[in-house]
Amino acid sequence: MPETLLEVNHLKKYFPITKGLLNRTVGQVKAVDDISIRLQPGETFGLVGESGSGKSTVGRTILRLTEKTAGEVKFKGVDIHTLPPEELRGLRPKMQLIFQDPYSSLNPRVRVGDAIGEALLDHGLCSRSDVRDLVLETLESCGLSSYHIDRFPHEFSGGQRQRIGIARALILNPELIIADEPVSALDVSIQAQIINLFSKLQQSRGLTYLFISHDLSVVEHLCTTIGVMYLGSMVETASRDELFRHPLHPYTKALLSAVPIPIPKLKRERIVLKGDIPSPANPPSGCKFHTRCPFAEEVCRSQVPVFRDAGGGHFVACHLV
Ligand code: SF4
Repeated sequence: MPETLLEVNHLKKYFPITKGLLNRTVGQVKAVDDISIRLQPGETFGLVGESGSGKSTVGRTILRLTEKTAGEVKFKGVDIHTLPPEELRGLRPKMQLIFQDPYSSLNPRVRVGDAIGEALLDHGLCSRSDVRDLVLETLESCGLSSYHIDRFPHEFSGGQRQRIGIARALILNPELIIADEPVSALDVSIQAQIINLFSKLQQSRGLTYLFISHDLSVVEHLCTTIGVMYLGSMVETASRDELFRHPLHPYTKALLSAVPIPIPKLKRERIVLKGDIPSPANPPSGCKFHTRCPFAEEVCRSQVPVFRDAGGGHFVACHLV
């Protein structure tokens, strides 16, 4: 059994709600509320849920871009939230984040080659004379051409910009990549190309991914395991095949009903959820999903369902399962 690459245990991230001149804390936004994830090297975990479910905060808290409230994040057995800043900096290249909109993180006045190579120099991972060769090699791995190295960000299409975002992460030779909605701003045909690129890079470099998306159809082709989040909590996790064949949680079923089936004759009945996701500052009592669940019963309003194994490593939090 290979060493676990990433182990997240009961992670919580609460943001204080403050009021008045003295910034008195009057409440908490429970953006991430008891999330556990385990990733073996070379695996892809898909984290799915609507906007506002806390997925991005999970990614940022894992990487310690924001401090946790409670819980534990271990990368190769090392608890990264207790590491001194110097040691954390040494570990940073191994854990990279890819954003939905790489354009916002690119300086429009900096040539793409310099933008990709700067992190290498910042971390002292290579000499100035070697940077250009490494950038050229990385551009090629990401499906870009050598002449792109001297161009500016505005000269690229959306898909090419995402390839630049991937190249910036890849050049540091990471082991774990957290990709936060990396294709949701792209057209469907370009999405497929970028997902294929993620897949190709995983095979050639043995990368491990935490892939965050609001769309189950995006994670379907890439992920080995899928976790479904609702209002800061995990409501279901299972292997990709098991989750797509036997979804157990009503929320997962609703998300799945929106995934198109490639065979036109086979139609899934669309489950349309009523209302919007409630505010995490004031989540519903009991099962947080009860205000939108078509199957809610009295017990759902008063008791929090336990997240438990429904069989064969398929975990779900629902009173009716
Ligand atoms: Fe619906 Fe109740 Fe299950 Fe929550 S616990 S998902 S409200 S049936």
